[in-house]
Amino acid sequence: MTTRRETQTRLDQLLKEIEHRNPAQPEFHQAAHEVLETLAPVVAARPEYAEPGLIERLVEPERQVMFRVPWQDDQGRVHVNRGFRVEFNSALGPYKGGLRFHPSVNLGVIKFLGFEQIFKNALTGLGIGGGKGGSDFDPHGRSDAEVMRFCQSFMTELYRHIGEHTDVPAGDIGVGGREIGYLFGQYRRITNRWEAGVLTGKGQGWGGSLIRPEATGYGNVLFAAAMLRERGEDLEGQTAVVSGSGNVAIYTIEKLAALGANAVTCSDSSGYVVDEKGIDLDLLKQIKEVERGRVDAYAERRGSSARFVPGGRVWDVPADIALPSATQNELDENDAATLIRNGVKAVSEGANMPATPEAVHLLQKAGVAFGPGKAANAGGVAVSALEMAQNHARTSWTAARVEEELTHIMNDIHTTCHETAERYDAPGDYVTGANIAGFERVADAMLAQGVI
Ligand code: NDP
Repeated sequence: MTTRRETQTRLDQLLKEIEHRNPAQPEFHQAAHEVLETLAPVVAARPEYAEPGLIERLVEPERQVMFRVPWQDDQGRVHVNRGFRVEFNSALGPYKGGLRFHPSVNLGVIKFLGFEQIFKNALTGLGIGGGKGGSDFDPHGRSDAEVMRFCQSFMTELYRHIGEHTDVPAGDIGVGGREIGYLFGQYRRITNRWEAGVLTGKGQGWGGSLIRPEATGYGNVLFAAAMLRERGEDLEGQTAVVSGSGNVAIYTIEKLAALGANAVTCSDSSGYVVDEKGIDLDLLKQIKEVERGRVDAYAERRGSSARFVPGGRVWDVPADIALPSATQNELDENDAATLIRNGVKAVSEGANMPATPEAVHLLQKAGVAFGPGKAANAGGVAVSALEMAQNHARTSWTAARVEEELTHIMNDIHTTCHETAERYDAPGDYVTGANIAGFERVADAMLAQGVI
């Protein structure tokens, strides 16, 4: 039997190979490190996982598609963006994961997101594989007609790679209900099929699930509540800092309020807002979801309780819990030190990989409960899988039923991560628990299905 140390040496060697074979993809390297650095205990304990080629297959996407997306703006000028879909692992079910439209998107970013998605989806227990896609298109400031033409061009290539039994995209940064509508319309037109289960995050009335828009944010708050419960505390009366002001942030703030906590911040790429009375959700939704404006407009219209801090770090605002809900690497070591100094008790990741490895290390060392994104933000994809189930059965469930399922799934993920961490001598370490529990489910399926 190999020891943990020998196993870790082998995994470290594999990480070097990953860096060598995937140059200039720092986010993918970071995600691979984050997972492979926690797997030694389970690989050493279970010889079948040390089988040559298993982890090597896991870190190599099954398929990667890159394509040209030409489109015309309202002035008739032609733009050429790049489209991506990385179909990472389908051992547990059809590839499942969102589409991101943001200028920072490149192959390495999509691979990091797709890799994370494999383990996240496994943790839901719902039979979905891992994938992710997107484009370097920037929807900010574009008219609805421009966004529609872009989505139509994007889907004109993407349609041949997806399907309800193959690959099921959803939203992510820059892709919400509007974009899913345009993408679905073009898919239906090209294929001449009403195939509701090909995309999730659809509108109510044409195949969407109630509570899907809320699911990621609600789920993250439920995960944070479960971590606090484990320590004999609850959310009632706690102050929270939330970053971002998009889909995940908005419904995080909503659920915090429903459970008696008070979110005092939100942000976007221009800066952050702090509102000592607590974020007024109706105003934030009006500015962000209806007017598609910036957060400084919130401070202007809210009155004296709120101020806008251009370009600042939202983590400077003292709080009991922190819920990063914008983007990767938005919370670094200095931010973690500030949060700790201000007495933070829990940090739960609504975004994917928002805390840098150094920040995670520091928070865990200081005894802060830390919920990694692949567990804490899995509520979104979980309700997407419930949307697929409703589509398949040609039915729609009540909001109460979906929310009950979501609550059950998030508590289950928390218990799984917690118990797995204990089983592998890392009590309270949700990063290790989530990685090992997700890995076991995917690895078992891959081993059973042979070398493919
Ligand atoms: P949205 O596009 O709705 O909102 C993103 C928010 O984050 C905006 O406020 C945006 O500000 C801000 N943001 C994005 N990029 C940056 C950046 N580089 N610097 C500063 N601010 C930034 O996206 P979502 O809310 O859907 O996604 C947020 C995070 O949650 C992402 O990490 C995503 O992968 C993750 N996630 C989303 C799920 C979902 O169901 N939607 C599911 C699981 C995870 P601005 O408008 O100025 O760019």
